[in-house]
Amino acid sequence: METHFSKNQLKDEQNKSSEKNFRKCVHCGFCNSTCPTYNLLGNELDGPRGRIYLIKDMLENNKPANEKIVKHIDRCLSCYGCMTTCPSGVNYMHLIDHGRSHIEKTFKRNFKDRLIRNFLSLTLSKAINFKIVLILTRLIRPFHFILPKKIRNIINLMPSKIPKKTLSKMTIYPPYKRKKPVARVALLTGCVQKVISPQINEATIRLLNRHGIEVIVSKGIDCCGSLNYHLGKSDLAKKNFKKNISTWYEEYLKNGLDAVISNTSGCGTTLKDYGFIFKSDKDFKKKAKKISELTKDISEYLDENVKLNFLKDMKNIKGYKIAYHSACSMQHAQKVHSIPINLIKKTGNEVFDIPDGHLCCGSAGTYNLLQNDIAKKLLEDKISNIEKVKPQFITTGNIGCITQIAQGTKIPILHTVEIIDWYTGGPKPDILKKL
Ligand code: SF4
Ligand code: SF4
Repeated sequence: METHFSKNQLKDEQNKSSEKNFRKCVHCGFCNSTCPTYNLLGNELDGPRGRIYLIKDMLENNKPANEKIVKHIDRCLSCYGCMTTCPSGVNYMHLIDHGRSHIEKTFKRNFKDRLIRNFLSLTLSKAINFKIVLILTRLIRPFHFILPKKIRNIINLMPSKIPKKTLSKMTIYPPYKRKKPVARVALLTGCVQKVISPQINEATIRLLNRHGIEVIVSKGIDCCGSLNYHLGKSDLAKKNFKKNISTWYEEYLKNGLDAVISNTSGCGTTLKDYGFIFKSDKDFKKKAKKISELTKDISEYLDENVKLNFLKDMKNIKGYKIAYHSACSMQHAQKVHSIPINLIKKTGNEVFDIPDGHLCCGSAGTYNLLQNDIAKKLLEDKISNIEKVKPQFITTGNIGCITQIAQGTKIPILHTVEIIDWYTGGPKPDILKKL
């Protein structure tokens, strides 16, 4: 794609990097074929190629965003299905992040939109704020029908109960039997996940501790920052990124860290991108690169570093038919697909890919809250494809997908780490107790 950025514009590092990406694009349109929003809406501007043109036009011509551009960019799921298909290696993720940040700086959304987006930014990125909102939602749920549609959608997606934690809050979880640790890792426990599904972090910690690994849960680390980043609030997100990078880097220097573990693939994708985001920041460049290098999805870490001690009497445990939902952030952004499947297969269960598994379930961070109609259609398609496999339960590695898919089916769904924990000596997940 031809570009016409001025020399002055290219002094800006983000423009420089986006320009490289625009130049890689040969406008072949292959990406459109795997884009969920293009497939649903059939409009060129609702596909990656069209969006790339919109972003290029804004950045190159120093144009503020307008209603039309915002509509089509907002409809992008950031699922990155287009990146898997692109033969030219265009990093669409960096382009859409740049586009969103430009929109936030140059376009004033209407009052209602600003209110909802600021509300999401404030509540979802802080576990304590989210917990308070969950309690309040329980009080207003009976009257939710009088509220505007978007607020109703948000309330409908909120869980009605806050599950109890079974592991006490600590900053260091030593290996079982107080053995000398074979490795030391930091765990990102997340913001929303630790409130609505504490069992995922608990299974991760138990599993790692049982295999001799010390787990650090650093104080003050809540959100990975991706929520604000994808809302276009890049300044706010960067404050969050810097806090995380500084905390983990200090831990790495002082006591040593073998990895930073993410068990939410949406967050892991952002952690792995810290190095790129700060590549021109002289104070954070080195630290951010190190944190990105240390970041592993839990499935990758287990596969590369841990000899899992599966239960000896595993053959006596009932075999299940499991559908594996490959989260977009896992398969398209991190390119991790077969690792979790192979790990689950080691438990002796049957694992099935879901037809059209490359397509998003509609969760996509705050997407199901902000673009409910498209998200709902994608969910219906996903559920219908899952049902074709006739699984006894579903598994995935991302809390957003777990919450979204659970809205559309009664088939139980759980995080992959819960299965591995169970088959290596942990408790059977509650959700499967009736199976
Ligand atoms: S597939 Fe890649 S090169 Fe082709 S139009 Fe899409 S982004 Fe551009
Ligand atoms: S990220 Fe997903 S929704 Fe957005 S353009 Fe790419 S394929 Fe389409």
